[in-house]
Amino acid sequence: MTTTVFTGIAELTTHADADPDAGAVADAALVVADGRVAWTGPLSQAPDADERVDLGGRAVIPGFVDSHAHLVFAGDRAQEFAARMTGTPYSAGGIRTTVAATRAASDDALRANLKRLTDEMLRQGTTTVECKSGYGLTVEDEARALRLAREQVEAVTYLGAHVVPAEYKERPEEYVDLVKGAMLDACAPYADYADVFCERGAFDAEQTREILTAAQAKGLDLRLHANQLGNGPGVQLAVEFGAASADHCTFLDDKDIAALAGSQTVATLLPGVEFSTRSPYPDARRLLEAGATVAIATDCNPGSCYTTSMPFCIAVAVRDMHMSPAEALWAATVGGAKALRRDDIGHLGVGARADFAVLDAPSYIHLAYRPGVPLVHRVWKNGTPAG
Ligand SMILES: [Zn+2]
Repeated sequence: MTTTVFTGIAELTTHADADPDAGAVADAALVVADGRVAWTGPLSQAPDADERVDLGGRAVIPGFVDSHAHLVFAGDRAQEFAARMTGTPYSAGGIRTTVAATRAASDDALRANLKRLTDEMLRQGTTTVECKSGYGLTVEDEARALRLAREQVEAVTYLGAHVVPAEYKERPEEYVDLVKGAMLDACAPYADYADVFCERGAFDAEQTREILTAAQAKGLDLRLHANQLGNGPGVQLAVEFGAASADHCTFLDDKDIAALAGSQTVATLLPGVEFSTRSPYPDARRLLEAGATVAIATDCNPGSCYTTSMPFCIAVAVRDMHMSPAEALWAATVGGAKALRRDDIGHLGVGARADFAVLDAPSYIHLAYRPGVPLVHRVWKNGTPAG
């Protein structure tokens, strides 16, 4: 077994401790063996290793865990974005535009788009990606999306309940029956999680409950699109069902915050969506101060937020949601891992997978301090250079 010691680390953030404010080690070293972290600490105390890699005085952080993305789709919605920026409000209905383009696309076209997006993510420091279906909305097209996602990402989520497709507009209950019946049967073999867009204009509390119950019985873990466009039952349902995460959490009342704080359900904030739809941001401070576990993810999708950049989301979280740079980095790494119920990624404690990003900066604070600048110098995944 070859061991490698990484030196020349101006600042090493391991997140080996639970406290995001615990700080980072200056003039550090990192030892990797067999794709895992074997040792971290001050360079002066580093053990010998077979190989030595000098990182040239850069900061090292755990690879980002993007726990919420929609990457199996065709086409884009640039015109819709332009219209929204000049005054047309966002609604869930635009999803149907992407559904038509996705159904018409070949497997290879969808594969290539997914590869392009995950490559973008990797270049920006993301080493673990979650990807949902939700632009097929037929039994065949949803199963296809999950099968294709499974080829390229680690965490796969069945989102047949993204929106009621146009052909079921007058009979939404029949569509719910399909989502929790034949479509679930076809999709479950490819999926780790099931998700529902629980929102006015998408699926209501009762429909959400039916779908979550069926998915759970099928052995899938759960996540939920909750409280994005207004107050609603999504967060409470996520907690009630023991979902891994409640995502968006833009409109929360006191009960929602208390429910999240007293649960194992991670509040996954997607600030790129509020940025790209010019909407009010979630109240991250209240969630943090109540003791909720907070994650940040991109929600990369062609409609409401077409960014693959976790550094961008961190910058927005710090600037507009008043998270500290330390809290935002923690949420984008450990928080994302918790939202996927993983403890081997998102940190660089001994035994963790050696997934890390080397920054062209002396400190991770530059991720927020220098917004829009491509600061990721190199990414290592499983202890080997990626990309
Ligand atoms: Zn989403």
